[in-house]
Amino acid sequence: MAGYLSIAIDTPLRRLFDYRPPEGMGAGELRVGQRLWVPFGKRRTVGILVGHQAQTSLAEHKIRRAFEAIDTEPVFDKVLLELLVWSADYYRHPVGEVLAAALPVALRKGAGVESTERTWRLTPAGQQDAETLVTSRATRQHALVRTLRASCSPHGLTAGGLDAALPGWRDAARLLIQRGLVEQLERQTVATTPLQGVKQQGPELGNAQQAAITRIEANLDGFATLLLDGVTGSGKTEVYLRAIETVLAQGRQALVLVPEIALTPQLTQRFSDRFSAPLAVLHSALNDSERLAAWRNARNGAAGIVIGTRSAVFAPLARPGLIVVDEEHDASYKQQEGFRYSARDLAIARAQRHGVPVVLGSATPSLESLARLSRPGARTRSEHLVLPQRAGSATAPHIGVIDLRQHAANQGLSTPAMLAIRRHLDAGGQVLLYLNRRGYAPALFCPGCGWAAPCPSCDARLTVHRQDNKLVCHHCAREQAIPATCPVCQAPTKPVGQGTERIEETLGNIFPDVPLVRIDRDNTRRKGELDAAMERIHSGAVRILVGTQMLTKGHHFPDVTLVIVMNADQGLFSTDFRASERLAQSIIQVAGRAGRASRPGEVLIQTEYPDHPLLQQLLAGGYGAFATAALREREAAGWPPFSRLALIRAEATTEDPPMHFLATARRIAKSTRAQVSLLGPAPAPMQRRGDRFRAQLLLQAVAPSQLQTFLAGWISQLDDLPESRKVRWSVDVDPLELF
Ligand code: ADP
Ligand code: ZN
Ligand code: ZN
Repeated sequence: MAGYLSIAIDTPLRRLFDYRPPEGMGAGELRVGQRLWVPFGKRRTVGILVGHQAQTSLAEHKIRRAFEAIDTEPVFDKVLLELLVWSADYYRHPVGEVLAAALPVALRKGAGVESTERTWRLTPAGQQDAETLVTSRATRQHALVRTLRASCSPHGLTAGGLDAALPGWRDAARLLIQRGLVEQLERQTVATTPLQGVKQQGPELGNAQQAAITRIEANLDGFATLLLDGVTGSGKTEVYLRAIETVLAQGRQALVLVPEIALTPQLTQRFSDRFSAPLAVLHSALNDSERLAAWRNARNGAAGIVIGTRSAVFAPLARPGLIVVDEEHDASYKQQEGFRYSARDLAIARAQRHGVPVVLGSATPSLESLARLSRPGARTRSEHLVLPQRAGSATAPHIGVIDLRQHAANQGLSTPAMLAIRRHLDAGGQVLLYLNRRGYAPALFCPGCGWAAPCPSCDARLTVHRQDNKLVCHHCAREQAIPATCPVCQAPTKPVGQGTERIEETLGNIFPDVPLVRIDRDNTRRKGELDAAMERIHSGAVRILVGTQMLTKGHHFPDVTLVIVMNADQGLFSTDFRASERLAQSIIQVAGRAGRASRPGEVLIQTEYPDHPLLQQLLAGGYGAFATAALREREAAGWPPFSRLALIRAEATTEDPPMHFLATARRIAKSTRAQVSLLGPAPAPMQRRGDRFRAQLLLQAVAPSQLQTFLAGWISQLDDLPESRKVRWSVDVDPLELF
């Protein structure tokens, strides 16, 4: 076979690069997925072999030779490599960047795949004679011999140990190795532990749980998509645990994805209480060496269970048996910048390639996942597993609305809400107030002339933050002092509207003796702050919880009996076709925090639109009724999941180039007669953000393949447009945010 190598390199170019194999090596000796050191421009960099080629379109003398192979084995197995290359194609992202994103940083820089530890020790000859052969005039060699002899370890000393004892020992070691007195060893540090073993028995399963397990187990032999649709607290996690138990007993591994890093400790704890199999945990707060260690344990099979956030979908698995995506509806599975992949969708694609089932769990399944049930692919098994009731003795909370037109709100809190808080506190319950807006107030107004403090860099208002006494832009993070008077008419200014800080203040005034905690991004940024707050909630030290979205996700608060949704109206009239789905999900999710243990729960939603159909559907029929209606609307309007979208965004420091680039892009598209409709270009809903002007062009197709075929040709044409060099642009396939 002729031998050129197609190599992926971590650069923003949407292509592979051709190389000749290293000196003295045939291309056939190298396997796809292996890393090599290659020359790239003037640099020496890490490349990953993606394929072999008999021919190349380049002139022979222009093809450079790779320097050397880094590993003797591939960093990605075949299935994972194929998945990554496919997803680079699907999301139209440079393949080199995609492969790099899937590797721990240390491996991107050339660290070894396997977990080997290098040590140095005396050879038998050295043991015998080193001290006589090495005179004390060779100071360093002499010192090294003495240090090695003093160590009792039969494996010798590591570089770390030697660095500490003898700075500059490496030269001495090299000379002693040449003289045959010292040797260098490499040894694997991972011990493979058997995966089986349940430390602690789980509770006796309810009927619905048992039925769900039976279906999962019946599907363990091949690819299937199993939607575990269970109300909050119905025991979904318990179902994952049992399914994983079976998978471990087969000697296979489970990959579990969670949306939030904040949820990993809870889940990790539950897994490690239950199983003796080692876990590998992968999330963004790990340092490089922790991440590398977890990656290696996933890869060599030492870890029976691999738990992680979004990018863990790329964790290597020696013996995959099951993939679980917890809270599959969560928007954080979609990466919003760079390589804009959906970890949920890739989990499904990966399960298919491995021939294993994927369990998607949620109390509020995405409309995408619900729609998949009614039109599974030709060879795809797809099942709906429903857990309609809470586990154990917990019962569903009662949900009611408070009509804000009838009950005036004092600083955002209506009288019925206040009375309900009093009632639940008196009965010994905890109370949770949910408002998805941090800060004190969303605007600073002048009652005199109507001025509202604008962000100088964005088409947006500044948010008042009392705690730091600042105005902050939530879009570009710009900060400035709060002016005491209006810059236009000098009248005193006034914060308008509610943020979590203000609700905290209001509650402090009404219930001065009740301990309260606020949880939002502003006061949980530092390490340990969120854990400390959670600890105070669980110990019962605080009785009132005020917070944003952060409080709605997955947390288990056994003593919360009342949940108040402070304002449901933000999502009711949005232009974004996904807004109602998100609102319904967050209401049901936060409602699910109430009454999770033995105490019954109550949920109150404050709204000025109690008759809005969305709220009515949710109240009358729960999430299921809402979802059925919402799917019907999407189908009528032709929105996803009944069509596929891609969004091209462009931005620049001046107004014209983004629109100009997108108009040209549209013109090229029109000439190809593709089965794709184009909407736009139009300025983004917030046109100016962080001093940049933004515009977008939306593409819509009925089938994913139509969109893919079109994008494949079109995107590379855009790369070549002169207009593209005047803007920063990106493509987002299956976008979640349309701005
Ligand atoms: P979900 O993941 O659906 O929110 P969990 O699995 O966390 O639900 O279960 C909620 C609570 O109910 C947990 O405290 C869990 O230990 C408990 N639980 C789950 N299944 C059972 C069961 N079959 N019997 C008794 N308690 C259960
Ligand atoms: Zn004014
Ligand atoms: Zn701004």
